[in-house]
Amino acid sequence: MADSQPESAAEGQQPLSKKGQKKQQKAEEKAKKKAETQARLEAEAASRDAQDISKDLYGFAPLIQSAEKTGRTWTRIGDLTLAKAGTTVLVRARLQTSRSTGKQCFLVLRQQHFTVQAIVAVSSTISKQMVKFTEDLSRESIVDVEGTLSAAPEKVVSCSQQDVEIAVTKFHCISHAAPRLPLQLEDALRPEGDEAQPHVNQDTRLDNRIIDLRTVTNQAIFRVEAAVCRLFRDYLTSQGFVEIHTPKIISAASEGGANVFEVSYFKNNAYLAQSPQLYKQMAIASDFEKVFTVGAVFRAEDSNTHRHLCEFVGLDLEMAFYDHYHEVTEVIGGMFVNMFKGLETQCAEEIATVHQQYPAEPFKYLNPSLMLTYKEGVAMLRAAGVDVGDEDDLSTPNEKLLGKLVKEKYDTDFYILDKYPLAVRPFYTMPDPVDPRSSNSYDMFMRGEEILSGAQRIHDPQFLTERAKLHNIDTTKIKDYIESFKFGAPPHGGGGIGMERVVMLYLGLHNIRKTSMFPRDPKRLTP
Ligand code: ATP
Repeated sequence: MADSQPESAAEGQQPLSKKGQKKQQKAEEKAKKKAETQARLEAEAASRDAQDISKDLYGFAPLIQSAEKTGRTWTRIGDLTLAKAGTTVLVRARLQTSRSTGKQCFLVLRQQHFTVQAIVAVSSTISKQMVKFTEDLSRESIVDVEGTLSAAPEKVVSCSQQDVEIAVTKFHCISHAAPRLPLQLEDALRPEGDEAQPHVNQDTRLDNRIIDLRTVTNQAIFRVEAAVCRLFRDYLTSQGFVEIHTPKIISAASEGGANVFEVSYFKNNAYLAQSPQLYKQMAIASDFEKVFTVGAVFRAEDSNTHRHLCEFVGLDLEMAFYDHYHEVTEVIGGMFVNMFKGLETQCAEEIATVHQQYPAEPFKYLNPSLMLTYKEGVAMLRAAGVDVGDEDDLSTPNEKLLGKLVKEKYDTDFYILDKYPLAVRPFYTMPDPVDPRSSNSYDMFMRGEEILSGAQRIHDPQFLTERAKLHNIDTTKIKDYIESFKFGAPPHGGGGIGMERVVMLYLGLHNIRKTSMFPRDPKRLTP
């Protein structure tokens, strides 16, 4: 044998001392005990599994990674009615709540604003372990639930589907929610002012917006908002308007230099558009005749008010007219009446849901819309004891007061105020043909707050240049805009509407952050 070969254990080992022998014996006994315990635990687990008659009916499902198309038929919770009683249904929903009485667990399953009760009860096929699993699963987890739909023995008043319940036969979690929620949905749903009960303040809501947005109220608010955009689009499209898209990165501030976000643009600077104003007018000069656009508008306004955001959605329109800019106000008034009617018929449930948490008077309007002149508005304010100059812009409190006076006199929450003083309007506003201190411009109001500003625009390039200079605007910076009228442009006018304000005021909410999904204000840039 080579020298490097190890000696056999028998040859190399010294006989153990008595103490050593004892030590070894102890270690061997310990290892044996450990193995026995392990074997016992495994046997117990196996026997428990064997005893868990439901072990294949519940649990955490493997990650859905699009490995297969199961072809299973899913049912929407909103469709679970008595007509389906007796059938097997399969739903994917959030586990809103679970409440156990030991042998059975009552669940509330939720899809957006629809909820249904489900019951997991110990039976010949459902084990105690399965009931425990449903009871322990954290709220807001997403689950696949199969079961038999039956008539509920008594109305389930806490759910949207009050007449039925699901007797659960299978229950799998497909996405587990962290057990500690940053806010409780039932707290987020409490009416404001109910300080005695736990409630959620606005910053906590906005910091945890994805949870906050799951409340029925928020589900309803953003469905109303979607309807506002849809009704705006559909009405204008039906009137022959063309939807356009305007650049959001621009070379010069569209509404003068103030309140503009500057961004770097390769070796130069650019600005985020404060409105699509100049571009929608250029589309008119390009013969589109009637255009509208829905898009982000940016304002670097350091105003922390209930109605200003740094980024909002503008619903803008512009159209050529024949003789008089009232052709434009008629279209816009008609659009609003159609929108309010559409909301009443298409969103009645959502409006009622929002008002449950945030009570408000129903929104009133006239058809055709009420139009007052600025002078008439000022006269109403003066009659109410307010001191307003003929050429002053209306302050926010005066706008609100005027809204109240108009409501008292005409019973409408929507009206148009026409013929603003020229001095308070942008440079491109057409002056009044008779009174040079007045202009062909208007604002529109909902519940006493401005939601639209608009006007006839100057379509004569020379006149436009004069007016820009008077406003101390560097005309070299808006050369493309002015030049677009050089080759002929029809008389035209339009307006810009703030989408979030329309929804806030229509629903009688008191803060624009409630109608912006992820609001941006001077203090908030996340989430
Ligand atoms: P306000 O006087 O209320 O600040 P504005 O006169 O600056 O508004 P315009 O520039 O005429 O408003 O914009 C047209 C519409 O856009 C407004 O009537 C309003 O509905 C909406 N809007 C304007 N600024 C904001 C903002 N910061 N946040 C949300 N909406 C806005």
